Amino acid sequence: MYSHEAGFLHAQGRAPAWLEVPQDVNALLQPIWPGSAHKPPADSILRVGGLTVQEIAAQVGTPAYVLDEADFRGRAKAFADAFAEAFSPLEGAHVHYAAKALITVGIARWLAEDGLSVDVCSGGELEVVMRGGIPPQRITFHGSNKSDAELIQAMEVGVDLIAIDSLAEIARVAQVADEGDFRPNVMLRCSIGIEAHTHEFIATSHEDQKFGLSAADGSVEEGVRRVSSHPRLNLRGLHTHIGSQIFDARAFRQAVQRMADLTVSLEREHRVCFPELGLGGGFGVAYTTGHDPLEPAEIAARMAEHVEHEFKAERLAVPHVTVEPGRAIAGPAGITLYTVGTVKPVSLDGGFTRLYVSVDGGMSDNIRTALYGADYSATLASRRSSAPPRLARVVGKHCESGDIVVKDEYLPADIAAGDILAVPVTGAYCHSMSSNYNSVPRPPVVSVQDGLLTVLLRRETMTDLLARDLYA
Ligand SMILES: *Cc1c(COP(=O)(O)O)cnc(C)c1O
Repeated sequence: MYSHEAGFLHAQGRAPAWLEVPQDVNALLQPIWPGSAHKPPADSILRVGGLTVQEIAAQVGTPAYVLDEADFRGRAKAFADAFAEAFSPLEGAHVHYAAKALITVGIARWLAEDGLSVDVCSGGELEVVMRGGIPPQRITFHGSNKSDAELIQAMEVGVDLIAIDSLAEIARVAQVADEGDFRPNVMLRCSIGIEAHTHEFIATSHEDQKFGLSAADGSVEEGVRRVSSHPRLNLRGLHTHIGSQIFDARAFRQAVQRMADLTVSLEREHRVCFPELGLGGGFGVAYTTGHDPLEPAEIAARMAEHVEHEFKAERLAVPHVTVEPGRAIAGPAGITLYTVGTVKPVSLDGGFTRLYVSVDGGMSDNIRTALYGADYSATLASRRSSAPPRLARVVGKHCESGDIVVKDEYLPADIAAGDILAVPVTGAYCHSMSSNYNSVPRPPVVSVQDGLLTVLLRRETMTDLLARDLYA
């Protein structure tokens, strides 16, 4: 057993409860790595998509976002197939990939080829997915504060659906439709008082958040009245999205229940009929071994059961359902490769020493740790180590003490400058939330498959950084 200066038990006390001391510090904890990732025991060098991390780094440098194409497309297909199958005895279900998790023109092409629909929530995301060949009939436009320009763009290209997020937006959508002679299909995003967390959920009658029309204060009912009375707006149904990184299946069941309750009162009062029900995304993924997500088949089967049960119990026609996974498709398919720079033991109170391992990226390429306190894990990817495990913290190169990539991980005690470190499950909400903090160019996004690397987005250059600076 490894001991540092202050004794092994001090280090143990600082590790979170879910983090176990690894038996073999070289081993990959398989459930959290993309399908093609493996480390042959002979050299313990990480391979993904048939390439070693050194081969990838030699082609595009580090830091780099690396997507396992087969894993991404396999997850998308698993969701599409699972929902198609589970809802086939009902009115069917369709999977929309939430583009905000990660989108490039190349990724949009995969989705186009594989028959998925896509959700966008800005004019920029709409442009990217259109260029990737997603037909407008397979696009839904979301967003809590769409500009008039975005509404015009969405109606001009002819997106299938616009999700209206407020009473105020109904008038704006109607005005754009009137002025351009458009007849958009719309649905109303409802806030139904479910706040879902990772391991529990609490239900309140009024949510203190910005999204959707409140079911509790009558805004949904008023929205139905206003949309129904407008000749150019075609009301296709109601939508809800109860949160993200949700593991608690009861939260989804309660969402279906509330949507059925809401539907029954609206259909009775207003003699409307909603052919469509949007149930959003939010399916949790395992960032570490501390998480235990459901498989798509199980999620789909349970949701079909809830929809059938709740709508039939209310004697309602069962609607066609859409779900919108983002994280659960993109997240586990991506890893980030970094090169280690400074390694610094820092003495803390109580005689504990924390090993700070600095990498060549940080909060500009992964803001989730700083923003949400998210947990990640990491592995030494470029060599085998015979050193014992040591509790470490992976940090970035930014001028901010909150610039943490991985709060706690056991890394080989001999981790050193020049080593390549890999962080799994960075496919979702890392590149899409990236920034140029400290004027650091953003990393490339590459896909790998069968020994071939494809650059989806190249690394930013100094020229890119200066491109908007009119004094440069
Ligand atoms: C963010 C979002 C999603 C995707 O959420 P994930 O947690 O990535 O699955 C789906 N639908 C809507 C409306 C969203 O805002």
